[in-house]
Amino acid sequence: MSDSEGYVGRFAPSPTGPLHSGSLVAAFASWLDAKAHGGQWLVRIEDVDTPRCIAGADKIILQQLAACGLHPDAPPVYQSQRSNHYQSLLDQLITQSQAYACGCSRLDIECAIAGSGQKRRRHDELIYPGTCRNGLNGKNARSWRFLTDSQASNSPLAQEIRAQAAPDSVANNVTWTDRLLGQQQQNVCSEVGDFVLKRADGLWSYQLAVVADDAAQGVTHIVRGQDLADNTPRQILLQRALGLPHPQYLHAPLVLGTNGEKLSKQNGAQALDSGQPLLALHSAALALGYHIRADSVTEFLNVALHAWRADLQ
Ligand code: GLU
Repeated sequence: MSDSEGYVGRFAPSPTGPLHSGSLVAAFASWLDAKAHGGQWLVRIEDVDTPRCIAGADKIILQQLAACGLHPDAPPVYQSQRSNHYQSLLDQLITQSQAYACGCSRLDIECAIAGSGQKRRRHDELIYPGTCRNGLNGKNARSWRFLTDSQASNSPLAQEIRAQAAPDSVANNVTWTDRLLGQQQQNVCSEVGDFVLKRADGLWSYQLAVVADDAAQGVTHIVRGQDLADNTPRQILLQRALGLPHPQYLHAPLVLGTNGEKLSKQNGAQALDSGQPLLALHSAALALGYHIRADSVTEFLNVALHAWRADLQ
């Protein structure tokens, strides 16, 4: 299969507010890559983290995309409708002894880490020390976690998976090639730990939902912001465990706020003005390295597509 055959790309916004110039970059880059490959471009509304979602933000995002001439090739999929599918994948992982129930509260995790004398932190997150890997020890199940250490389970199925796995998957050391960032590597077991698939509040984790839906929608190419690059090894591990295909990845540059961090509502990002699509597209294109002048949205998109295609050569 050539690179462009059967290309399916997507933009997967969380409806936590309207798009701003930072989030438009991911939308625009994923649209450009899909169209430059003659592929399909889908929009998926990632509304699993319901407490963070804002009513009506999905509609505003779709209107903003339309104003910029970015029209999905199929009706948007809503993750809030897909709970049964996520449950079936969690059940598969449980059957394979690759997911387990965890009864630990945050305090339990802090105490276990303090007791071990280790500093187990990554960004602001505690790295789960694996307390419930061998059972709940009388606690109630709160969340479900992915077993990142494939050596730790002794079920016959886990042993069979180990016997068939490539050497780097046994160590859960994930290497992958980003189309922009190049060769990447992460040991998920030691650097991230057993991550949550279903949260204590019953909500699905981003990691499981994104892997489930990318596969269900036949997504072949993922283009998204660089802040998400660090999640990719977890998603590759889940794809391996579930026997799902691995898409290709391109993590696009971020627009930074005044504090040097990724542009967000918190550091001053303004909602895109749908009445000024050329202005919005201009700043998204600049973040991708293109300085484009055009009189209409159609002309702008054509020029940008031409430039993106030339960069693919
Ligand atoms: N929903 C995620 C976000 O808005 C993006 C997920 C993805 O592209 O994989 O940050």
